[in-house]
Amino acid sequence: MAGSERDWRYIGHLLACRSGSLCEGCGKPLVPGARELSIHHRQPRGMGGTDRSEAHFLSNLLLLCAGSTRRLAGVAGCHGAVEAYRENAERRGLLVRHGLDPAAEPVTLASGRRVLLADDGPFYLPPADGPLYGNLGLAR
Ligand SMILES: [Zn+2]
Repeated sequence: MAGSERDWRYIGHLLACRSGSLCEGCGKPLVPGARELSIHHRQPRGMGGTDRSEAHFLSNLLLLCAGSTRRLAGVAGCHGAVEAYRENAERRGLLVRHGLDPAAEPVTLASGRRVLLADDGPFYLPPADGPLYGNLGLAR
């Protein structure tokens, strides 16, 4: 079941719900189903023995723009930038080192907001070291 075309359509839909159909790297609006949209694995598959179903947890996936043209050598847009500037991408949580749990590693969104990515639904969670309601501006 995992990895089928239908699963990717569903996962893409969940990611679009989570991000409001915005690139989670630069905040650019993305058209669902368009070619310039790509699903990025924060912790790439095929390294460090990450098992297949785990690699598809929502916490390991980001919706990123990939530019309007796919080049032979790679992809453009934020997806290309993650690959080209891996150190910066790691600092922002767009890439996660092997041995770390993507669900516990915050991502800095284009707005500057730091979030954790939930596994069990298309939503962001506050980071462990942040205030629970900080993103809503509520006092505790
Ligand atoms: Zn982008």
